[in-house]
Amino acid sequence: MKKSLQTTLVHTDYTAPEGFDAFPPAIHHASTVLFKNVAAMRSGQWKEKNAYTYGLHGTPTTFTLEARLAEIEDGKHCLLAPSGLAAIAMVDFALLKSGDDLLLPDNVYNPNRELGRWLSNDFGVSARYYDPMAGAGIAQLIQPNTRLIWTEAPGSVSMEVPDLPAICAAASARGVLVALDNTWSAGLALRGFDLGVDIVMQALTKYQSGGSDVLMGALITRERALHDKLAMAHMRLGLGVSADDAYLVMRALPSMKLRFEAHDAAARRVAAWLKGRPEVARVLHPAFADCPGHATWKRDFSGAGGLFSVVFDERYTEEQVDRFVDALELFGIGYSWGGANSLVMPYRMSAIRRNWVGKGVLVRFNIGLEDPADLIGDIERAFGRLA
Ligand SMILES: *Cc1c(COP(=O)(O)O)cnc(C)c1O
Repeated sequence: MKKSLQTTLVHTDYTAPEGFDAFPPAIHHASTVLFKNVAAMRSGQWKEKNAYTYGLHGTPTTFTLEARLAEIEDGKHCLLAPSGLAAIAMVDFALLKSGDDLLLPDNVYNPNRELGRWLSNDFGVSARYYDPMAGAGIAQLIQPNTRLIWTEAPGSVSMEVPDLPAICAAASARGVLVALDNTWSAGLALRGFDLGVDIVMQALTKYQSGGSDVLMGALITRERALHDKLAMAHMRLGLGVSADDAYLVMRALPSMKLRFEAHDAAARRVAAWLKGRPEVARVLHPAFADCPGHATWKRDFSGAGGLFSVVFDERYTEEQVDRFVDALELFGIGYSWGGANSLVMPYRMSAIRRNWVGKGVLVRFNIGLEDPADLIGDIERAFGRLA
């Protein structure tokens, strides 16, 4: 039976233990996994998932979560990592070696940029940065030694939406792999594989967990050979996740789409209100025309989630905007997002971007699950502190 994504999030093919039929999947803890006999030990292949061999290489709990995440992204294979950043590192260590070239968008998640810097400085990989709006123009940057292009849709903080089909077409014409950080859309509003990407990465820390209490990441693929390469890095780096954390993510998955849609509706309402305010110069939300790549978002995405940024009018200094941020009561000042609580973060763009030209101070909002009217009231009151 063909099911919609929402039904798939609720109805899984988990099989409960004999005589204990319940919806929640079991939490299996183990470092050692025992083999029936030596022959079973010798034939058990963690890579084939035909046997459990060691806690680090998977348990029934983590295999269940992997299958669910692969299904959401319309992929075939999935690997879990102890954080989103660990999942990013797994890709780089699996696919790059000394002498290789790596392309990162200029608006890449900053710790990914930091990883690129490390690979450049100490591992003989060249990490170069491209304009996230390059589209098909990325072909000019691809060198014979380019192995991997990271994409992020939209990019972190400044929210440009890249033309993924154009980037993927240019990459695949030269045999270069494309990895997509698809965290912003939770895999719900952007179908990475349909647009041509090879690897989808998710920070499950965000919407999948939904509780501001779990750190986890995932890599999803369709190609078996590519999955196997990533799986070797997963094994060699020892990237296990806890069964309890895997359970917490699974517990939150059935409500993920409904939460995402609630974040989306509330964020668009707050963003629309901000757009009409004289304090705000630009609203960097992919669903709004101010955002670079807005037309691409309309073409490729089916939703938006809760994260966007605004650029304040140039007349406000950083000090004034900091006072505004401090005055907010319903918004916590903190990193990450995807939980029930709204968050806010001011950014020094020149510290994280090469050629940032905008003058106004940029502030990122994560709209949580509070009543958006209360959030708007809070922002309006805090605007009073800008003066
Ligand atoms: C949060 C985030 C990550 C990293 O996730 P962690 O689990 O915090 O390491 C990666 N990419 C994006 C876009 C993120 O927002």
